[in-house]
Amino acid sequence: MTAYDFDLFVIGGGSGGVRCARIAAGHGARVAVAEERYWGGTCVNVGCVPKKLLVMASEYGAAMRDSHGFGWDTPPGRHDWAALIAAKDTEIARLNGIYRQLMSGCTTFDARATLLDPHTLDVGGRRVTAERIVIATGGRPVPPAFPGAEHCIVSDDAFHLPALPAHITIVGGGYIAVEFAGIFAGLGVQVDQVIRQTLPLRGFDEDLREGLAEALEANGIRLLRGKTIASVEADGPARLVHLSDGTMIETGLVFAAIGRAAHTAGLGLEQAGVDTDGFGAVTVDSESRTSQPHIFAIGDVTDRLNLTPVAIAEGHALADRLFGPGPRKWELEAVATAVFSSPPIATVGLTEAEAAKCGPVDIYLSRFTPMRHTLSGRARKTLMKLVVDQATQRVVGAHMLGEDAPEIMQGLSIAINTGATKADFDRTVGIHPTAAEEFVTMR
Ligand code: FAD
Ligand code: NDP
Repeated sequence: MTAYDFDLFVIGGGSGGVRCARIAAGHGARVAVAEERYWGGTCVNVGCVPKKLLVMASEYGAAMRDSHGFGWDTPPGRHDWAALIAAKDTEIARLNGIYRQLMSGCTTFDARATLLDPHTLDVGGRRVTAERIVIATGGRPVPPAFPGAEHCIVSDDAFHLPALPAHITIVGGGYIAVEFAGIFAGLGVQVDQVIRQTLPLRGFDEDLREGLAEALEANGIRLLRGKTIASVEADGPARLVHLSDGTMIETGLVFAAIGRAAHTAGLGLEQAGVDTDGFGAVTVDSESRTSQPHIFAIGDVTDRLNLTPVAIAEGHALADRLFGPGPRKWELEAVATAVFSSPPIATVGLTEAEAAKCGPVDIYLSRFTPMRHTLSGRARKTLMKLVVDQATQRVVGAHMLGEDAPEIMQGLSIAINTGATKADFDRTVGIHPTAAEEFVTMR
């Protein structure tokens, strides 16, 4: 018997923490997990899952209009936001139950855990000791700092709005801002999106960014480029948004999606000797180890690649490394990612600009009207792009804006991660008629 209450204590029952705890317990470790808010964490409760359900809801209106081009006489429907939120909440409650069941091999605490010293935690008022500790506390939306910030909502609030106003102003040009712009516009809201760059999604391939900006505008979203919000005033239920260029917008709701920050405030990291970067994120080495050798950190709290599959992979690898046969191998560099905008974006590997810094590149670009919209009449383009290293002919990046892009990119990421060349793509016979076949026919 060790002198500690547990072999492993995991702080946070989100994507990374749950996977780490479950796998460690499966290897025979005595594991405890504390979750202060909701089992399943951000992804299940206020992230990927409810977001995707709202994206799906938002697609029906345009699909009903599209159907007219195919001979359907579908009348325009009215959307019931409250009914959607109720259905979403029922599904999330089901998933919370599943996540709880996944923890059956662990001791669970529905409580906040904080570190008192390198091996001792306060868990809802109880002192608990552990040989090793995993910090998996995730991130939180960054609140805006302009005057009147208290009149704005962040993404956590967007999933529980009692009703949708006629007009919403979103500030930010990242993942969350473009996804919610698509959701609200698809549900009939007039959307303004205030971005401080000239294009959304800084860091993505430039052709995708341009294609997305065009698509957002084609969806009726008003992109206010190169601007920020100076202040917001409340005028009864209305919000008066003063922009950096001196103009003013009257709107029904201001939604700030300006990034997320590691959730480490008040966690007791100093008492435990765990270092953070200047922004509160826990610093780790390639094996998730913090400055304190028996304390580890995984997922968004380390603020690297803040995606659910990354948090899960880190948690799984850590549990295998500490208690099992050794870690599964995975690469952080070529992780595919999708933005569930309308239409969605998916990407893996290097952008053209990133690849060009390493040497000459060959670019294959295709832009076309997808078959569905030849009859629907909707102004919508698909864009596909391959970035090829000229010297080795390896495909180092694949990018797509268009329907089904995330589904297509998952398979393509295997090819790119295993070093496929352009010649490998060329000798692959396509599936017809699909958009995906374009990836193997681009010349
Ligand atoms: P989290 O899931 O945030 O879990 C941390 C948990 O720790 C939380 O449940 C929290 O309550 C708990 N906690 C914090 N402090 C304590 C404490 N002191 N004691 C006890 N418990 C504590 N990623 C994708 O891959 N695809 C997507 O489509 C996607 N969509 C997203 C949409 C939105 C709106 C947002 C906000 C995020 C989205 N993400 C998406 C990102 C994804 O949700 C995160 O990368 C992922 O949830 C990170 O997992 P995690 O385990 O690190 O943290
Ligand atoms: P992002 O980091 O993706 O984007 C933040 C946006 O806010 C950027 O456009 C940034 O502009 C802008 N911004 C930052 N500060 C300010 C400011 N003070 N004033 C005005 N604009 C500002 O953050 P998100 O909140 O959208 O998402 C957080 C993370 O969650 C993502 O990075 C991603 O890792 C994850 N996520 C993943 C999803 C998915 O996988 N589909 C979906 C949603 C979230 P600039 O570019 O100029 O810095």
